[in-house]
Amino acid sequence: MPSPSPIGFHRPDTLAEALEIKAEHPEAVPLAGGTDLMVAINFRHASPPAVLDLTAIAELREWAPYDGRVRVGAGVTYTRLIEELGDRLPGLAIASRTVGSLQIRNRGTVGGNLATASPAGDGLPPLYAAGAVVELASVRGTRRVPVGEFVTGPKRNCMEPDELIAAFDVAAASGPQQFAKVGTRNAMVIAVCSVALALWPERRRVAACVGSAGPTPLVASEAEEFIAGELDWDGGGPIGEQALARFGELVGACARPIDDVRGTARYRTHAVGVLGRRTLAWAWSDYA
Ligand SMILES: Cc1cc2nc3c(=O)[nH]c(=O)nc-3n(C[C@H](O)[C@H](O)[C@H](O)COP(=O)(O)OP(=O)(O)OC[C@H]3O[C@@H](n4cnc5c(N)ncnc54)[C@H](O)[C@@H]3O)c2cc1C
Repeated sequence: MPSPSPIGFHRPDTLAEALEIKAEHPEAVPLAGGTDLMVAINFRHASPPAVLDLTAIAELREWAPYDGRVRVGAGVTYTRLIEELGDRLPGLAIASRTVGSLQIRNRGTVGGNLATASPAGDGLPPLYAAGAVVELASVRGTRRVPVGEFVTGPKRNCMEPDELIAAFDVAAASGPQQFAKVGTRNAMVIAVCSVALALWPERRRVAACVGSAGPTPLVASEAEEFIAGELDWDGGGPIGEQALARFGELVGACARPIDDVRGTARYRTHAVGVLGRRTLAWAWSDYA
């Protein structure tokens, strides 16, 4: 087998420097935790001419609250998210706990999960359920894109070749949030399907997003609208069995799954409905 060509390497210390490099070398592929990229390079699924190592950039590792939201740098790892943001972003923190192993969570970032835009990315459904906005930066300036527009298809996103993800920002939780995932075992597993759910009591709103059961994460809009009108927001009374069952059906109905090695489309549709009911019951019990 011929030996691979040498890979160019850039390691800027600031975001401004990184954006200059990206503008000059749009072919340079960003590297954050490397838990997707290095696997792809090692298996020769990717052979980038150059790598833009973002790990020395302190700005990308910062997070800060503002106006009821939280701005999280693209380079914040899952471990830090769990430890530092579990109270403000509980749905994302629960999902982060299910990602890979401790080693993967210590290296892997939500910025990397966003850029990979895998339908099975566990960070994505909670971001949809919390109305996240992705901040894209380039030497031309910064633009803010809602996560549902950022992800354009399976492993596709709307980033221009000279852009980097600087951060994402999310509404801080105002009610309980949940995430549940089905896999073939408890740890180190790619989701067969998942559901993220968030209650926004001040708006009388339930947000639900299905992962790994369609080309992109899918917002269960019909289920959201239905259940918001059924819940006893003032009294916190129990959810009726019929309403819970209907909610599960509607969450299942929004899935657009395929048969693949991890599960059949039929199984995924069923499981997504079960996860929908389960996450709602957990969240409502916390709320009540
Ligand atoms: C053993 C193992 C288990 C895993 N388990 C899970 C799991 O359970 N759930 C899950 O969702 N994922 C899992 N993954 C996948 C991976 O860990 C995640 O997708 C992770 O979030 C990737 O982040 P990273 O920082 O390592 O990204 P990297 O590998 O560094 O980069 C990923 C992609 O994002 C781009 N990128 C990174 N940062 C930026 C930026 N700031 N701007 C623009 N582009 C950028 C890179 O160019 C690359 O295309 C697993 C991976 C492994 C190896």
